[in-house]
Amino acid sequence: MDITGEILIGNASVSAGETFRAVNPATGATIEPDFSSAGPSEVEKACALAADAFDAYSETDTETRATFLETIAANIEALGDALVERASAESGLPLARLTGERGRTAGQLRLFASVVRAGDFLELRVDPAQPERKPAPRPDIRQRHVALGPVAVFGASNFPLAFSVAGGDTASALAAGCPVVVKGHPAHPGTSEMVGRAIRDAVKSCGLPEGVFSLLTGPSKELGGALVSDPRIKAVGFTGSRAGGLALVDIAGKRREPIPVYAEMSSVNPVFLMPAALEARGEALGKAFIGSLVMGAGQFCTNPGLVFALEGPALDRFTAAAATALKDSTAATMLTPGINAAYKAGVDALTGNEKVSLVERGQGGATENACQAALFVTDIDAFLADERLQDEIFGASSLIVRCRSIDDMRRAAQHLEGQLTATLQLDEADVEAVRPLLPVLEKRAGRILANGWPTGVEVNHAMVHGGPYPATSDSRTTSVGSLAIRRFLRPVCYQDLPDALLPKALRESEAGALPRRVDGILQTR
Ligand code: NAP
Repeated sequence: MDITGEILIGNASVSAGETFRAVNPATGATIEPDFSSAGPSEVEKACALAADAFDAYSETDTETRATFLETIAANIEALGDALVERASAESGLPLARLTGERGRTAGQLRLFASVVRAGDFLELRVDPAQPERKPAPRPDIRQRHVALGPVAVFGASNFPLAFSVAGGDTASALAAGCPVVVKGHPAHPGTSEMVGRAIRDAVKSCGLPEGVFSLLTGPSKELGGALVSDPRIKAVGFTGSRAGGLALVDIAGKRREPIPVYAEMSSVNPVFLMPAALEARGEALGKAFIGSLVMGAGQFCTNPGLVFALEGPALDRFTAAAATALKDSTAATMLTPGINAAYKAGVDALTGNEKVSLVERGQGGATENACQAALFVTDIDAFLADERLQDEIFGASSLIVRCRSIDDMRRAAQHLEGQLTATLQLDEADVEAVRPLLPVLEKRAGRILANGWPTGVEVNHAMVHGGPYPATSDSRTTSVGSLAIRRFLRPVCYQDLPDALLPKALRESEAGALPRRVDGILQTR
């Protein structure tokens, strides 16, 4: 597939605005071709088309929509090696990682196809009329969930496939019945265009209205702001920085009609090393921890950025093993010069903090934007006294916090901001010590895991990739897994409507076609 650098607005390919190029973060070299920058006129056209497409697309039957999602997955796979090669050049991520990410992207689309076919996302409910009820008759009330409207999606830099143009936000919005306008991440415009064309081809071959999908490229905050401000956009999906997410929440809240922004922003993913586990396998834990920390240059929203444990010889063994593993770790290229600069500034701030000591650095790197990993240590009093010590440093940096007691660990958990994950390393003898910690962690995190590491997020039905602020802007939701579809739906009920006027799925003749709850009792097909 040729990459043209054009903006994709429905069926049209548009050249506009000043041009920009992708940069190979490993070499600093720019990569052809020139890409157009969308402005207000392109935002206007994409949103108008999306609004035009909404009624027809949101009422497509479940089979049509599921087939559309599967066609996108197949089209992305058909792009072959060219897609992962382009993504690697634009992101510095290795081909093997991106090949896995492509599988995850296609898998996510197919998961949402299965969710759409199953039909329970519509949450059909029927409370039939009871004309004889005393003192007043009960009306017939039926409910379904409907799509919110056109959704703006902001692709993330750190997953150029799985959290970008055809990532989880797009897949779940399309599954819900919402047209999508993507604001492509400027770090990987060629990858974005290839995937965007794959989606557009699926729109065409499935006979859907062209406005179901558009891709606006451009390296400017004005573009994202204009998109979120457009009155035809009814919800936003975002993954990126806290500052970026909050800026969009602010814009969305000040609209004449405020809209929900589902922003996944920052998390430091605390790990609690419980005493028996630390005693029994401190060295192995130290080594495994570094494996999780340096993976992908630490550029994961689930990177383990804080470790809490009781001070003593077992923690010393953990720290020594971690330091040895870190010293040997090679420096991987970071996604963009900006991310590398932010990482260095975060590491410099910890280095200059007199209450924090450097444990070890990883190896330096030969590439332009190499991430030299860093591990620091502090004590619980310093941690509790300085809010900055729980700021996200996006990249391979982590801080060990030495605690005096289990109660200190509990106080630390209470002191934490909202998180995507909280990890417990525990043995059987730790169960009673963990019990009082759990209610605190439930209030702080979207996912609590035992004896694993937070990096690596399964895409399935039970996954929660969300959490209280600042992990996300809305703790009631997840951006990964099938429940992500709920973000783009709202309930509508119909009271005493004649059968002929009801949405098809709620008519009496459709009983048994899709799962529905009748008088509170779930009836499956
Ligand atoms: P970002 O700066 O937040 O940008 C993400 C997207 O949002 C880009 O398309 C960007 O457009 C847009 N955007 C950002 N601020 C905006 C604003 N004020 N108004 C309108 N649009 C805005 O994230 P990034 O470039 O991926 O990485 C930068 C930092 O984000 C990292 O250092 C890291 O701290 C954090 N990050 C976190 C995660 C996570 O999973 N939690 C993932 C990636 C990055 P433009 O670039 O065109 O302005």
